[in-house]
Amino acid sequence: MSEAIDKKMAIVTGASRGIGRAVAVEMARDNYFVIINYRSNDAAAAETLELVRSAGGDGELMRFDVADSAAAGAAMEDITKRFAGIDALVNNAGITADNLFLMMPEADWDAVIATTLKGFYNMTKPVLRKMLRQKKGSVVSIASVAGLIGNKGQANYSAAKAGLIGATRSIASEIAKKGIRLNVVAPGLIETDMIKEAPVEMIKNIIPMGRIGTPEEVAKVVRFLCSDDASYITGQVIGVNGGMI
Ligand code: NDP
Repeated sequence: MSEAIDKKMAIVTGASRGIGRAVAVEMARDNYFVIINYRSNDAAAAETLELVRSAGGDGELMRFDVADSAAAGAAMEDITKRFAGIDALVNNAGITADNLFLMMPEADWDAVIATTLKGFYNMTKPVLRKMLRQKKGSVVSIASVAGLIGNKGQANYSAAKAGLIGATRSIASEIAKKGIRLNVVAPGLIETDMIKEAPVEMIKNIIPMGRIGTPEEVAKVVRFLCSDDASYITGQVIGVNGGMI
């Protein structure tokens, strides 16, 4: 059983860096015990845990690939045994492998779809089972502007993110009456490692606010959607994009 009984509990996938890290810290500020999932970067994940603790919260690290059904299944079984409840799941883990569609290797198509969509399936199903028993809970998944309007060179990524939106809307309507909400946050360009190679200066010209966003600006919306303040919001896609669309 959890040692953190006075706290709410949240699982954040892909929380070693970037948006996931900011979400973990923001949730810690809102009195969540945070499970910090990540795939490979132990040092960065340990830093996230430090930041969570500095924010007055607590959490623990769980390293596994969300797209690996067996690994994710084992991790979720462990979590559901040890913790009395799960209040929030944030499906944030995601990767890119950009290329024009006709040049795109099958492996890059599969890897991007698997991380986002298989990851969503592997994490969300066991969490919803637990939330259904609790009759409450919130799931927020991180899509992208690319999932709404597409993006040249990102057919795999756009397909995965659009899939996340379709799955969320469907499941939200299936279980809306059970007290569980599912929503999507669709960021525009956000300052993280993911956009290291992007032509940021050029892209800024098509952002009405004329700047890229911060991980914290996404994290605050995620925290809101997880909270009771968002009690009548489900099946929605909230853009955090400086007015891009
Ligand atoms: P980063 O590349 O900065 O961080 C990605 C995080 O996801 C890391 O913590 C990484 O872990 C983790 N991760 C990747 N694959 C897996 C996996 N299979 N299992 C578990 N963890 C995994 O990305 P961002 O913070 O920028 O992106 C976060 C989310 O936001 C993604 O879904 C992305 O698509 C979305 N997004 C980002 C935008 C941006 O402009 N940055 C815009 C729109 C959406 P590790 O480091 O340990 O490998």
